[in-house]
Amino acid sequence: MLPFARVAIVGMGLIGSSLARAVRAAMPTVRLSVSDADPAVRARVRDLDLADDVADHAGAAVIDADLVILCVPVGAMATVAAEIAGELAPRVVVSDVGSVKGQVLADLTAALPGIAVVPAHPVAGTEKSGPDAGFATLFRGRWCILTPPAGADAVAVERLADFWRRLGATVETMDAAHHDLVLAVTSHLPHLIAYSIVGTASDMEAVTRGEVIKYSAGGFRDFTRIAASDPVMWRDVFLANKDAVLEVLQRFTEDLTALQRAIRWGDGAALESLFTRTRDIRRTIVDAGQDTAAADFGRASTGSA
Ligand code: NAP
Repeated sequence: MLPFARVAIVGMGLIGSSLARAVRAAMPTVRLSVSDADPAVRARVRDLDLADDVADHAGAAVIDADLVILCVPVGAMATVAAEIAGELAPRVVVSDVGSVKGQVLADLTAALPGIAVVPAHPVAGTEKSGPDAGFATLFRGRWCILTPPAGADAVAVERLADFWRRLGATVETMDAAHHDLVLAVTSHLPHLIAYSIVGTASDMEAVTRGEVIKYSAGGFRDFTRIAASDPVMWRDVFLANKDAVLEVLQRFTEDLTALQRAIRWGDGAALESLFTRTRDIRRTIVDAGQDTAAADFGRASTGSA
């Protein structure tokens, strides 16, 4: 039996529209009702025929749904939760896909007292945005991390885990604060570094913009892909995960200073020792099936956030 019969998705960008496509493919009998704040996105979703109903307001989309998934930027979760609060069916499960979990959990539980809230984060994405960027296989072979609050209804958690497994994801459960620290290291810091490096390169007057583009294959190109990620989404991630990001950034800054010192003093052994260790980490990631060893790292279609 399917875990949910009527699913509502609010926010039909990259992740919401991928979810809609994946639900259609894996659970075709599910009644899918969606909404988005942007009238142009709603019109596009109708054109693409991604759902059974496209509502003009979030509240109208969630009526009768037994699962509601919020796929809006992290900073918009509280607003959407307030919009749907009075419209939810009594035994609904409310979830989300936000890249930060502590703040979203606090926002959703505050706005939706008495409702089963089970936040989730599919660790899958690309640098693209909007309903045209989504695809049904985005979550296949990827992790989906559930961060239920203490005392959450175990049946609701298991139903949501079953839902994500049917979309091809592997489900892991962890505490929201731990999720935010892990993702600060594996996703948020790398994005911050990419935004910073691309900004620095474009500001360097001694190197022309033409040269930066021409010789970008020397490593810069991969940073530009990450730094092309959605500005609103990432603004919200850094504002919402401030403490964990600042903690990890402090460690990173210290390690960078040590590298600076090694270069200044010609300490080749220190550099080689670090680079050997990091190469092993890369091998472990490829061996774990989290990336391919292909020259472009198989990044034509998938990444993660
Ligand atoms: P996106 O492509 O920009 O889509 C977000 C959509 O939500 C947009 O259509 C946006 O409309 C709409 N929206 C914004 N505020 C709204 C509101 N108050 N009510 C209804 N709709 C609203 O972003 P995305 O990449 O799908 O990200 C969505 C969520 O997934 C974020 O929380 C993000 O942290 C999480 N996530 C992203 C990735 C990734 O790699 N992209 C991976 C995992 C999780 P407007 O265009 O009008 O703003």
